This record gives sequence, structure tokens and C-alpha cells, in this order.
Amino acid sequence: MNATHASGLSRRAFCLCCLASGGFAATSGLSPRQAFAEARGLVSLIKDSAATSPIAVHKLRNNISALEGSGGNIAVLTGPDGKVLVDAGIGVSRPQLMKALTDLSPEPVATLINTHWHFDHTDGNTWLNSVGAKIIAQDNTRKYLSEVQRVEDWDYNFLPPAPGGIPSETFADALDLKLNGVSLKLKRYAPAHTDSDISVNFAEANIVHVGDTFWNGVYPFIDYSTGGSIDGTIAACDANLAAATADTIIIAGHGQPVSNKSELKEFRDMLVGVRENVATLKRQGRTRDEIVAARPTAAYDAKFGAFVIDPGFFTRLVYEGV
Ligand SMILES: [Zn+2]
Repeated sequence: MNATHASGLSRRAFCLCCLASGGFAATSGLSPRQAFAEARGLVSLIKDSAATSPIAVHKLRNNISALEGSGGNIAVLTGPDGKVLVDAGIGVSRPQLMKALTDLSPEPVATLINTHWHFDHTDGNTWLNSVGAKIIAQDNTRKYLSEVQRVEDWDYNFLPPAPGGIPSETFADALDLKLNGVSLKLKRYAPAHTDSDISVNFAEANIVHVGDTFWNGVYPFIDYSTGGSIDGTIAACDANLAAATADTIIIAGHGQPVSNKSELKEFRDMLVGVRENVATLKRQGRTRDEIVAARPTAAYDAKFGAFVIDPGFFTRLVYEGV
């Protein structure tokens, strides 16, 4: 991995969801299995790049902001009850994240909500808990963070965090909170990107963090190892679209964090289009590698293919679920 790659990782704030990307295989001529093995070495690179990535702060409305630059996109609500964070980023970003949070307002982080269990959304749990944050998540996030998790498509085993990093308050389907005068509505999706995904809706502000059910303008990762699927991801997009109005600010899990219904609709239509193309080829009896070679994503690559989940890797993820 050369310096250009490293700075690219830093600049784009790549996340663990992207580690097993075939993008590295495409440029290096490795087989997917070799590429996955190489990708495992990137965990340390991701951490190194997160350690120096700047945090971009996007102020939205009603004392809510989106922070970009440490793994998955983070939402912050400030106020006298203490800050509420949606997702924790990667632990080594702590200095930059702390500065960004302190620049927003002086009060400490009192509450942290995880949208799902993945590392690039929960690695900061331990330090945030150590400074006083109570961690809330769906039942399965707690379950997955409590044991070693193997993600096949990353060829990687994730170890549990220290006990303080495991959510202490969980729920099955929905949880309503009132913090800093804001109605927070936490709602579980049917299995989508994983089977631990939730949305967090800031009701009065009409802002919703939809976690990794939405990757704004880029192909998504789908984690079949913990209950995700292409059809579930499409269904989650449909649920997000049904709940949104033209004025809703939608915070995406990855990609540019401040988004809206029309960009979400484009993402959903891309998922449906690729799914249909891959399913048609699979029905014709084509092998996975033949389907990748047929480029069923071609119509979408210019718009969505620039991130580390490249067309070939995304095609393999869709193939797995149709
Ligand atoms: Zn994820």
C-alpha cells in the first residue's frame, strides 16, 4: 500500500465496511480471496488514517449537526441534558472528534446511540462511555458486540470491545426518548444492511439518521454474516422513502452525510436496477464470475462506483442474495 493509497484513505475517510473491496483486487490483479487476505492488513491502515483525518462539521437545524471523517457519519444533538451522539466513529479519532464536539458546545456527551454493530460505527463506544456516555442500541447490536464476530466477506474476525463499550440499554423494535427538548424516535428496520439496524428520527427537526441502510452516492456494503441482504436493503430504502418528506434531512451512513429524499430515491433505484440485472443473469445459469464480467452495474458505475465498494465487489454482494 503506497502513500497515494494512504492519503486517499485519509481524504475519503474510508471505513471498515470497505475493507474487503475488490477495488484493491482490480488494481493489483489479485484473486478475491487474496485481495480479502490483503484487505485484512488494512484494518491498521484504516485506524492510522482515521487517526489523522479531519472531522468536517455540518450544522443542520434545531441544534443538530452531522460529523464526517471518522468511519460512519455521526449525528450530534447538543443541549442541557448533555450531547446525544448517533454513532461513535473509530476510537483513534478521539482527539479530533473531541475538539469538534467541544467547538459545538461545552456540555459532555451523555447519550450514545449505535445504528448497528459495525466497527466503524461502534469503535469509539469505549472512550465515549469512559467520559460518561450511556450507550443505547438494538438488542442484536449488543449481542454482536458481546462476542467475536466473523464477517465472511471481509474474511475478518472482530473482537468484542472492553465491557464499557457494549450498549447497556437495548430494545427490540422501538424506543422513544425526550432529550434536550427533542423527541427522539429509535426504530428497528427489518433485516437490511445487518439485522441490527435502526433509524434515529429527530422528530421536530425532521432529521433522520438512517445508518448504513443508505450510502449516499456510492455502492453499499451488505453484511450477510449478520443478517443483511440486498432485498432487505431495498425494503429499508422503501421504508425510509415512505417516512420522508421533501424537507426531511436524511443523514446517510456513508458518503456525503447531509442528504435528502431525491438522492435516497436514486440510491434505491440503483439497488433495484442492479438486483434485477444480476437476478436475470443468475436465472440464465451464469456463474458468479461470469456475472461480474458481464458488468450488470455498468449503467450506474459513473455515479456510484467511485468508492471502495467497487462494481465487482458490489455485484458479488448482490449475487449472494438473489
Ligand atoms: Zn455498516
